[in-house]
Amino acid sequence: MQFAEFAARASEMETEPADLATVALVRDLFCDAGDDLTVVVRFVQGRVFPAWDSTTLDVGPRLLREAIARAAGQNVTAGDVEDRLADAGEIGAVAAGYDFGGQRGLAAFAGGGGDGLSVREVDETLRELAAASGAGSEDRKLNTLFGLFNRASPEEAKYLARLVLGEMRIGVGEGTVRDAVAEAFLAGPEVDDDEGDEDDIATGGDADDDAEDGASGDGTDTAAEESVSDRATTHATADELAAVERALQVSNDYGMVARVAREEGRDGLEAVRLEVGRPVQAMLAQAGTVTDALEAWDEAAVERKFDGARVQVHVASGDEEEGAAADVSLFSRNMDDVTDALPEVVEFVADHVDAPAILDGEVVAVDDDGEPLPFQEVLRRFRRKHDVDRMREEVRVELRAFDCLHAGGEDLLDAPVTERHARLSELVPESAVSGLLVSDDEGEIAAFEEASLDAGHEGVMLKNPDSTYSPGDRGKNWLKRKPDVETVDLVVTGAEWGEGRRANHLGTFLLSARDGDDYATIGNVATGITDEELADLSALLEPEIVSEDGQTVELNPAVVFEVGYEEIQRSPTYSSGYALRFPRFVAVREDKTPADADSLERIERLAESQ
Ligand code: AMP
Repeated sequence: MQFAEFAARASEMETEPADLATVALVRDLFCDAGDDLTVVVRFVQGRVFPAWDSTTLDVGPRLLREAIARAAGQNVTAGDVEDRLADAGEIGAVAAGYDFGGQRGLAAFAGGGGDGLSVREVDETLRELAAASGAGSEDRKLNTLFGLFNRASPEEAKYLARLVLGEMRIGVGEGTVRDAVAEAFLAGPEVDDDEGDEDDIATGGDADDDAEDGASGDGTDTAAEESVSDRATTHATADELAAVERALQVSNDYGMVARVAREEGRDGLEAVRLEVGRPVQAMLAQAGTVTDALEAWDEAAVERKFDGARVQVHVASGDEEEGAAADVSLFSRNMDDVTDALPEVVEFVADHVDAPAILDGEVVAVDDDGEPLPFQEVLRRFRRKHDVDRMREEVRVELRAFDCLHAGGEDLLDAPVTERHARLSELVPESAVSGLLVSDDEGEIAAFEEASLDAGHEGVMLKNPDSTYSPGDRGKNWLKRKPDVETVDLVVTGAEWGEGRRANHLGTFLLSARDGDDYATIGNVATGITDEELADLSALLEPEIVSEDGQTVELNPAVVFEVGYEEIQRSPTYSSGYALRFPRFVAVREDKTPADADSLERIERLAESQ
């Protein structure tokens, strides 16, 4: 495909306000792209490289302005381009405002051939440009860009400039590309009674024919001549869209997915697998509570929430004949390659994890005892390109893995959390794996959270034990436990002696709200209290014991606890008629007497305002 044709199509998309019509334009472009399909699919999104590839052209706005100025003629300076940019606000419009044709003869003489740019040539040239590095690379980049602009029409220059900066501004997002791929290569013809005579235009088969036509390079303006309404619109089914979406999630390569859809259809898309070395988008979490988790799934998979930077670990087998160690790559949450910044993580993984594998986890900074350090410390290491060895001495980082997406040649995206975690534990030494508790018991979960906080972690993550790994999804299957929103101050009116190690201490504390001159019970708190605090609390409360019945004691209302909670719900269990969900001890309010504690009215108000 000629780049001029691509630019003409892009221009049409840019002026088309309606989403559906834009999808149709993109679909038609894909159908006509022939052998250039992969490149064209990337170009409409302003990409030269697939989304998973962190290679960049490394051309800044300044270099681009200089290249445009040079191609625009001897009288134009980079400063002139900058002035125009200040007016136009956008480099594409500026580039389109120059007539680069003046030097075309010269370019032809110098080997440009005089013919127009092709999509493939632009792609290859930009890839070469991305690979330029070292001394003189800036000049080489400038020359290369000059060469391209020098042969561009105003419309081509517009989209070339935008492509170089990575934003096409034609209203074609990822969803549009997905829909267009499905419509172009999977969907059958639209059945439309009114316009039945057009049904034969855009069948899947015709789409392929169109593509071949495009490959034979017939002119530049097919789509421009044929308005959207002239072509039948195919409508992909939800299943077809899902098949494209799924392949995209697994590969992050729109170009490849479009090619597979065209050449192998749905079966081909379903066969797209993870590849070690090609990162996928990280699954994300919503805020939620233990109550939400247990209500939705009956039981929750609970893991420590590490306070670090997300990392996806890819372990490929080294060259066995050469006896090379495993080949480890690390990617950030945005799929940037951060391997070189984290050599000790690479070494750890190469030494301990069998290839092939893909893991998900966090890189945390740790002190000399291996205890976690605050998040800011990791940031000093995470994307560092220089002085890595020196910084390695200053801030130590370690891997904490919490998921396994691929092991021993098997994709595990569709396996449940529990199975993925089991595979992870087989692959990675215990010290580098998040613990996993699967429980339906709030108390047990609270104790796990407490241990996690005590160990210096951020808290806990709650996961649906049966859920699969859906890349890029911020769904309801992963919840980061919300910190308690409010605390209440309640009077301790009873307690229970602990068990085992805690047998000599009061352990569980009965809490009450003020109810007139009396107290109404609202729940027990047993979590959030360290051993040391427990000893202090027992000493504080023992003098208040009024009566004992087995392990249970009744206390004088004398001490006020500040308590966090997730939710207040109605409950017949306590005399107040309410219960605290997930209560956690925060502090003894030594500054408050029972008369200052929260009243039942306030509890009612809090319950209503939830
Ligand atoms: P937030 O950054 O507050 O949105 O919390 C979600 C992030 O917590 C994830 O994107 C991970 O980077 C991080 N995280 C820490 N520990 C875990 C874990 N066990 N499971 C999932 N994500 C975790």
